[in-house]
Amino acid sequence: MSIGLVLPGPEEPLVLGVEKCFRKVGIPVFGPSELAAQMEGSKAFSKDFMARHAIPTAKFRTFSSSEVAEAIDHVRTCDYRVVLKASGLAGGKGVLIPETTDEAAEGLRQIMEAKVFGAAGEQVVVEELLEGPEISVLAFSDGYTVVPLPAAQDHKRIGEGDTGLNTGGMGAYAPAPVATPDIMERIMKETLRPTIDGMRKDGSPFVGLLFVGFMLTESGPKVLEYNVRFGDPETETLMLLLSDDVDLAAVLLACAERRLDSVQISTRPGFAVSVILVSGGYPGSYPKGKRIEIGEIPSDVVVFHCGTTLKENELVTSGGRVIAVTAAAPTLEEALASVYAAVDKISFEGKGYRRDIAHRALAAAKT
Ligand code: ATP
Repeated sequence: MSIGLVLPGPEEPLVLGVEKCFRKVGIPVFGPSELAAQMEGSKAFSKDFMARHAIPTAKFRTFSSSEVAEAIDHVRTCDYRVVLKASGLAGGKGVLIPETTDEAAEGLRQIMEAKVFGAAGEQVVVEELLEGPEISVLAFSDGYTVVPLPAAQDHKRIGEGDTGLNTGGMGAYAPAPVATPDIMERIMKETLRPTIDGMRKDGSPFVGLLFVGFMLTESGPKVLEYNVRFGDPETETLMLLLSDDVDLAAVLLACAERRLDSVQISTRPGFAVSVILVSGGYPGSYPKGKRIEIGEIPSDVVVFHCGTTLKENELVTSGGRVIAVTAAAPTLEEALASVYAAVDKISFEGKGYRRDIAHRALAAAKT
């Protein structure tokens, strides 16, 4: 068997340097080197990178775990509300948003002394709290060229109206109208271009999918975080916005071969929506092995399997986020109607989902 291209999925192998293993034996990889993957693997690294390259982001200071007193002193004296971030990989759970300075001090003790996030908390980034709508921008890069897809908006909380605990994402839609053409232009000029150029100049060109989380603040888009790989539910949504003539495998290979400018990437007009079906109890503990039944799904809807598996030839649940039901249509309302009609055709015991995906765009359209 010959392997033509490797696309590592999750962040951990990338941060551990899997790219090199394949590259060394001549297999092209769509994914960053170990060094470039630090943009996700270490928030201290990515914040320093942004500071050096004048990329707009929240004010910050980094502390090592032996500097608890200094960090507490900082949260008590700085002139902004803070967000505390374990610097390393914490499976999307390493961020605390304290309400008061006492809570912030306690959070720091938890991360730095009690080590609630383990080794991920060996360094802590104390960051200014930013306000505004949040968007995700996913961009292909070969280290030189960078091609963004339309901005998507995720829904992190488990409950409708953005209430309850944080999850890995309960649904997304794109394009997010809040990301106007002017904002997308600023994002390209102030963040994407300088990020890709900066990484190359620093000796770690970024090849792969750069996933940037932004807060659209009053003074412009600011980077919340970098991810160095596809992430859901934004990816499922955006895949359905790619034009029919885009050959995704060819795009990924072109990135790996440093010739992204030789391929076309275009998106279709209209909107795409993804709704995540979750196991009962998620994001807390949940049962696995529940039998899934899928009725007749219209051809314009794609059912992406996330936490499912086959057990004795039967489809059963195997994770918290089970299925991403996704559709694209000329209008947001039509895409939502298709998705929710298909959601009703899928059943398993304890099935949960949010009925208000894209509520911000719908509300904005009414005003
Ligand atoms: P994930 O990979 O799941 O997105 P993560 O652990 O890498 O999460 P971040 O994306 O940096 O962490 O932060 C998680 C969430 O916390 C963000 O999506 C955002 O809602 C909130 N957040 C992070 N930084 C800030 C900030 N400076 N101001 C306000 N909210 C923030």
